[in-house]
Amino acid sequence: MFGRVPKKSDNTKFYEVLGVPKSASQDELKKAYKKAAIKNHPDKGGDPEKFKELAHAYEVLSDPEKRDIYDQYGEDALKEGMGGGGSSHNPFDIFESFFGGGAFGGGGSSRGRRQKRGEDVVHALKVSLEELYNGTAKKLSLSRNAICSKCKGKGSKSGAFSRCYGCQGTGMKITTRQIGLGMIQQMQHVCPECRGSGEMISDRDRCPQCKGNKVTQEKKVLEVHIEKGMRGGQKITFEGQADEAPDTITGDIVFVLEQKKHPKFDRKFGDDLYVDHNLSLTEALCGFQFALTHLDGRQLLIKSNPGEVIKPGQYKAINDEGMPHHRRPFMKGKLVIQFHVIFPESGVFSPEQCRKIESILPMRPSKHLTDMELDDCEETTLHDVSAEEVKRRKERQHRHREAYDEDDDDDESAPRVQCAQQ
Ligand SMILES: [Zn+2]
Ligand SMILES: [Zn+2]
Repeated sequence: MFGRVPKKSDNTKFYEVLGVPKSASQDELKKAYKKAAIKNHPDKGGDPEKFKELAHAYEVLSDPEKRDIYDQYGEDALKEGMGGGGSSHNPFDIFESFFGGGAFGGGGSSRGRRQKRGEDVVHALKVSLEELYNGTAKKLSLSRNAICSKCKGKGSKSGAFSRCYGCQGTGMKITTRQIGLGMIQQMQHVCPECRGSGEMISDRDRCPQCKGNKVTQEKKVLEVHIEKGMRGGQKITFEGQADEAPDTITGDIVFVLEQKKHPKFDRKFGDDLYVDHNLSLTEALCGFQFALTHLDGRQLLIKSNPGEVIKPGQYKAINDEGMPHHRRPFMKGKLVIQFHVIFPESGVFSPEQCRKIESILPMRPSKHLTDMELDDCEETTLHDVSAEEVKRRKERQHRHREAYDEDDDDDESAPRVQCAQQ
């Protein structure tokens, strides 16, 4: 089995073969074996020696008693204890105990049925921006089908079954029905009696634990680690944790992160954070300072430079106060603040105050209209236009342009560009 004679006290090789630490749990061992065995399966062109090694390593480590002996005394002690047989089992048997029949049906494999892959179960997981900023772990309890531990997924006490009468073992049933004059519709559906397995188990032989269903419901708690800087849409996968079924490679449970809208911060362009801040006109002209509570609760002091005037809609940024980069959380994006200037309402200033303001602020160009020029002008009246009205007009214009573009494709670039700039 193992050409190389291991050193007397070598008790790490099996862990190395499976690529797990010595502290690996049964679950981790199982996972590591599954992954490596699929990769190295001779039916898939893998190295048979490596495949054997994997099976043997797993066989020993998955048995607490053998693992204990191996950990203390190494492989040789195990060989003695097991009566000289280094690998007492057929490696394919061990593989198939996981995956049922041959995992990769056809292709020259003489073993078993074609094995299908179970479906992945996808869950949306809502996370707040705070959670993505700070990182967190969420414990989620899910129920899933697990192969019945009592009958090992056979469904019967004896392991025997007979062909289903309902479908003659095909698992499918065809029904016909008349849907009109002389028209017959044929429908194929999964046989309800055997639920597609093609097998029937007699009442007496039925496994008492799963009632012949081969699987039982199991509660499972998964701990989902939301790492700093993860994004909405990002997937966190738990391999092989979805519903188990006989002759099926268990699918994955996949959590897709969905970032909840934050009332204050907006994440944009990767790792930049955008926040709006309203300034009074006085603050915009004469300076401001305020405290901004960040996503981790820190208070940032934001203040203008002496003499600085902030214009409506102006952006200002603070480096390294945006979102942390995923996997490099010590690096962060920018925190961008967009300032909005709240102007005083009409009628707030008396004519006297206006004159005062005029004396301070730069002169308006309209002041310089001469009486002659005024005489040449026509009187107009300004009225208010709501933001909705502007939007409606824009949309109408856009629709009009699109219709125009369809008629005349040659001339489409000019109006489009103009549209986009608005
Ligand atoms: Zn059972
Ligand atoms: Zn059936």
